[in-house]
Amino acid sequence: MDPAKVVIVGGGHNGLVTAFYLARAGMRVEVLEARNNVGGAVATEELIPGFRFSTCAFRLWGLRKPVIEDMRLADRVTVRKPEAVLRLYPEDRSLRQWSDLSRTAAELESFSPGSSARLLDWSMFWEQAGSLYEPFVLREPPSEKELRERSVEIGEPGLYDVLRTTNMVSLVQDHFSDEAVQGAYIAAPADPRQPGSPLETAWASIPLEEDWAGLPVGGMGALSSAMAAAAVESGAVIKTESPVKRILVDDEGLAVGVELQDGSCLDSDIVVSNLSPRATYTRLVDSGALDPQFLKRVNGILSTIGYLKFHAGLREPMDLSRYLGPDYDPNAASYMRITRSISHYVSAWEDSAAGRPARDPVIQLGTHSVLDPASAPPGGHAVSALVAFAPPELEEGTWDDIRTSAAESVIDRITEYVPNFREALVDYVMFTPTDLENRLGMLQGDIHHGDHLPGQFFIGRPFPGSGGWRSPISGLYLCGAGTHPGGEVSGSPGYNCAAAILSDRCQ
Ligand SMILES: Cc1cc2nc3c(=O)[nH]c(=O)nc-3n(C[C@H](O)[C@H](O)[C@H](O)COP(=O)(O)OP(=O)(O)OC[C@H]3O[C@@H](n4cnc5c(N)ncnc54)[C@H](O)[C@@H]3O)c2cc1C
Repeated sequence: MDPAKVVIVGGGHNGLVTAFYLARAGMRVEVLEARNNVGGAVATEELIPGFRFSTCAFRLWGLRKPVIEDMRLADRVTVRKPEAVLRLYPEDRSLRQWSDLSRTAAELESFSPGSSARLLDWSMFWEQAGSLYEPFVLREPPSEKELRERSVEIGEPGLYDVLRTTNMVSLVQDHFSDEAVQGAYIAAPADPRQPGSPLETAWASIPLEEDWAGLPVGGMGALSSAMAAAAVESGAVIKTESPVKRILVDDEGLAVGVELQDGSCLDSDIVVSNLSPRATYTRLVDSGALDPQFLKRVNGILSTIGYLKFHAGLREPMDLSRYLGPDYDPNAASYMRITRSISHYVSAWEDSAAGRPARDPVIQLGTHSVLDPASAPPGGHAVSALVAFAPPELEEGTWDDIRTSAAESVIDRITEYVPNFREALVDYVMFTPTDLENRLGMLQGDIHHGDHLPGQFFIGRPFPGSGGWRSPISGLYLCGAGTHPGGEVSGSPGYNCAAAILSDRCQ
């Protein structure tokens, strides 16, 4: 029997991982990518002449060990790690969070005496939450029963239910009383007051591959290029500038290939979509091929959380001397965050939930040229920011209407903390949720292909009864971030999808 022929729609990093594993298993794999470069949200681009940026994802942390080893990524990519997270506050205050807990505790004590008392408890809580999840990342999503059994196994019987029912605000307040310190530890995909908001932080706490936490030299695109090289070495064919118009389904409900935008068709035994579940089922599949009830559930997938991605070319380093003194190590500027307090975080979310960009956003800032000097001209710096939050749809008008004012507001906010920021600007580029949709087919600019909200994890991803990587159309599979275990640069959905296909072929 001829090896199965597989078409993968989309060469995002998960599509490349699936391509690698299927080609390695002997299948004839062709990846069709709409853009002129692979990687999707994992890309490097010269957005301003002379300045190269990681266009979307800019912090690598969740890549899984089997993916790293099987694709021999260590032979192809070097990752540089920021030495600490530098937290910026008004009145020239700052706090560094190091990977070494005792160093962080010492810094916390001088920042806010008494604040380190429960740091160890905090750190152990998240260590346990991460180990609760870890065994379920590269496999079928766990049931609630399995999560409770695992809680017992790791010696914390109530842990899963705590994560599911409590909220991030109460967890943070339980461990830290200083408002600014609370700002350093609050995190959530959306509203930190929502029950179940700790589930996402637990996902972000799975044990890291330490050498793979940071920024690849050459930006995130270097990782995608390495994944593409691994897939090609295994026998996959990758075609860029090949947008797919629709997935072809025959009269018996079987996926039989794809039609490209240029009108050409490609037949296959298996079609894999790297697009979000909603984009796949509503844009690529003829609605007649799907049960109306199923389509209704697809349209109910929540994509409510949005961000702005801002990139700046600077002619000089950011001036952080007000925080760190005149002779500070420039490495300190490689990764920064601005979240003053829990109420600051909540107000940023509330603005977005009301349909407007956060007036006082929560900001993550990375100066990648500190870690990778070749990403900016001599003396200059490439700075990127993830700005939270920005609604996928505005209450009034469109993102194109307010792009300039929203960008000016981001520049003002950063300049409040980094005084030379505006005057050092050579140029900037900002992507709104609408831009992300137009560039990547990422509906509503949803960076995770489906919100990371409590009901949309595990068997709820993309929604209960959806089949996960499998679809109701025989021969059609999903490999992107909208499937278990979810978004971020982990390669896990791509790995799991390949495993599901290979297991189905063996039956
Ligand atoms: C602004 C932003 C910042 C982020 N920051 C981080 C971060 O710092 N760290 C982190 O871990 N994660 C981050 N993420 C999330 C992470 O990048 C994504 O969850 C992940 O990369 C999704 O990967 P994917 O392969 O599943 O999908 P995608 O990257 O969305 O890939 C889908 C691919 O399909 C292609 N495509 C779309 N339509 C078609 C079509 N019709 N025909 C052919 N091809 C098509 C697209 O061009 C794209 O290449 C960020 C994402 C964004 C957008």
